[in-house]
Amino acid sequence: MRIIRHSQILAAANKIKPDVILFSATLNGKDLAGSVGAGLSTSALQDCVAVTLSGGKITVRKPVYAGKAIITAQPLKNPAIISLRPKVFPALVPDQAKTAPVERLDVALDGTEQKIKVKEAIKSATKKIELTEADIIVSGGRGMKGPENYRILEELASLLNAAVGASRAAVDAGWRPHEDQVGQTGKTVCPTLYVACGISGAIQHLAGMSSSKCIVAINKDPDAPIFKVANYGVVGDLFEIVPVLANAIKKSQN
Ligand SMILES: Cc1cc2nc3c(=O)[nH]c(=O)nc-3n(C[C@H](O)[C@H](O)[C@H](O)COP(=O)(O)OP(=O)(O)OC[C@H]3O[C@@H](n4cnc5c(N)ncnc54)[C@H](O)[C@@H]3O)c2cc1C
Repeated sequence: MRIIRHSQILAAANKIKPDVILFSATLNGKDLAGSVGAGLSTSALQDCVAVTLSGGKITVRKPVYAGKAIITAQPLKNPAIISLRPKVFPALVPDQAKTAPVERLDVALDGTEQKIKVKEAIKSATKKIELTEADIIVSGGRGMKGPENYRILEELASLLNAAVGASRAAVDAGWRPHEDQVGQTGKTVCPTLYVACGISGAIQHLAGMSSSKCIVAINKDPDAPIFKVANYGVVGDLFEIVPVLANAIKKSQN
């Protein structure tokens, strides 16, 4: 395992003068993008959900005001420093006919890389699917009424090979661990399918999941704000709907 450092990227950037440097908008990626931007006396466009190149100009789209609006922006200086939300692009099928030149850069280091030495990488013992990598997420909020009721979401999640997420209300109540929290102060996710159960759709929750490709909301309140971002909405009691949904999926898999 190698740790990519600020100083290595700066050295490489100063050597090859790229037009754009892309980072993943993870906690570490955003941290690195910001410090590399400062090191190159330019700004970083963080947490973008799209990037296009047209007529030699780079344009990005990024959520602002906790996801309430999306802005289109262009970098004013080169290199453009851009961090992109994980999973915003579908992975392409590798084309073996194509090749790309790979250049090995011998960049001068500043000595700080000696301060940390990775001795061993141990895989997590749990089989839990990481929220930010999951293709499908089944998430529960205060409407779940208690930690014991997440069992029905876990059952649904296991049928769909999905991860289980939660709103902050559920995490603050101690029903789920903080690592499961989706939203402004939790994780930003971009799955193919996000199933929100008993989640009202507060702006801080939407900030973490509104770029999901398909959102299904189950809520007994027809005026819940989650329905404004949902592609499919079911108005009703989740304790009736989730088991019916799980049974239907089970049947379709047999
Ligand atoms: C600075 C700051 C940061 C924050 N960060 C986050 C964050 O990262 N993530 C986050 O999620 N929140 C965050 N919040 C909190 C956020 O504002 C909301 O309070 C929270 O998201 C509400 O969670 P909820 O939707 O589970 O609960 P509620 O808003 O209470 O909604 C519960 C929903 O469940 C529905 N319901 C109840 N019973 C049933 C049933 N039987 N069947 C179907 N539906 C039912 C209700 O109709 C309701 O819509 C933050 C707040 C602040 C101020």
